[in-house]
Amino acid sequence: MRFLELREQNDQLWEYTHSVIMGSSVKAVALSYSDNAGISRVKTIPTERLRHAARFGVGMSPVFDAFLFDDSITSSKFSGGPMGELRLLPDLSELRVLDPTSGWAYVPVERFRQDFEPHPLCHRHFARDAYQALLNQNVTSKMAFEIEWVVSIDQGSEFKPACIGPAYGLDRVGELEEYLVDLYSALQFQHVAVEQIHPEYAPGQFEVSIDATDPIQAADDCILVKHTIKRVSRKHGLKVSFAPVVSAGGVGNGGHLHFSLQRDGAPIFRSVPGEVHELSVEGRSVIAGMLSELPALCALGASSPASYLRLVPHHWAGAYRCWGVDNREAALRFVKETRLVTEGGANLEIKPFDLSSSPYLAVGGVLAVAAGYLNNGLLPPDPVVGDPGLLDETQRTNLGIDRLPSTLEDSLKALVDSSILRSSMSEELLTAFVAVKEAEIALARSMSPEEIVSATRWRY
Ligand code: GLU
Ligand code: MG
Repeated sequence: MRFLELREQNDQLWEYTHSVIMGSSVKAVALSYSDNAGISRVKTIPTERLRHAARFGVGMSPVFDAFLFDDSITSSKFSGGPMGELRLLPDLSELRVLDPTSGWAYVPVERFRQDFEPHPLCHRHFARDAYQALLNQNVTSKMAFEIEWVVSIDQGSEFKPACIGPAYGLDRVGELEEYLVDLYSALQFQHVAVEQIHPEYAPGQFEVSIDATDPIQAADDCILVKHTIKRVSRKHGLKVSFAPVVSAGGVGNGGHLHFSLQRDGAPIFRSVPGEVHELSVEGRSVIAGMLSELPALCALGASSPASYLRLVPHHWAGAYRCWGVDNREAALRFVKETRLVTEGGANLEIKPFDLSSSPYLAVGGVLAVAAGYLNNGLLPPDPVVGDPGLLDETQRTNLGIDRLPSTLEDSLKALVDSSILRSSMSEELLTAFVAVKEAEIALARSMSPEEIVSATRWRY
């Protein structure tokens, strides 16, 4: 969205925004965006400056496009160094008061150059443009991230689970019930549509599922929900990690992305009896496209060196390139429509993604692939039944299944080789993203898995 359009939208929303922040005695607003390292960077302003910021933006250096997960800085042809200035323009339609008493609000921003042109490295612009390519084909999308995290007792840099109850166990909810109810009420206050929260498999692990929504909002919500979980945890004296792996060799934290597509409001992933795989031609093409681009998408959605310690077989992380109907070891889980839920339509879950990634890059990459493959009539292989990791290599080859990249280096190479993703990203964005990832790979090269885990555990 161009600067002037977003400013005009902010102008129209101003009266409403003003009444909301005044009614909640908000004192300060956090303006935030996600960088190439998957870290949310921020500027904060007093409420009195919000009107001005919503018209002219807030200044910030472009150097963060060259930041790594440990705050060291690399450089590329288009980013790094002390020069330059950007304007962070908030999108007031996504402003949320964080709770009734703290005085804080949160708003996502888009980044613009001083001449009001979109900053070519802004992830939210990338996701918007990718969505526009789909909208141009009269197709809409709904998306949702599943957010997994572990809670730890706050004591230094080690991870010590804050609860001892069993996986998926009611006991774990009992142990942390005040914490969880505070989390529910914070998210409810922010109008985040929570579907459910449950204890997950790994020690101290939980998951929240959010209702599917507009793709850009799904990425905004991902950052807001992570921020909220961290805030509520801190109040309870707990520490939180969304890192892909918290204990080397253990089950990790996923950030699975669910998405559905609609043409003229009708679901594209729907049952079509009599058709191959009982799917529409467009639905089949998108699944085939996702499978073909999945190694490259991993660079955008599983984008830390630590991601590949999580992306291993038998961990429900989707380490094999295949799709399966309600199969939690397939990288693409086709979540069937259920007769109990009347809205209808199935969705596709991308399991390899995790929360070390910029959600806007993950969302934009998936939208770009969907838009690029919708009409090419490709047919995916048969859906896989059971755990592909239990098959032998020959069986997997015969079924057209292979391993997804086992290093960030490999997925980055796939990204650079992907003509669809390369053409959907600006040259500046791709160049800077690759530079940051190459620098992170170099940083992790001499580290053992345990060292990678402890270097990233409290960064995401
Ligand atoms: N924790 C698993 C992961 O790393 C996912 C478990 C699940 O299927 O929700 O992705
Ligand atoms: Mg889960």
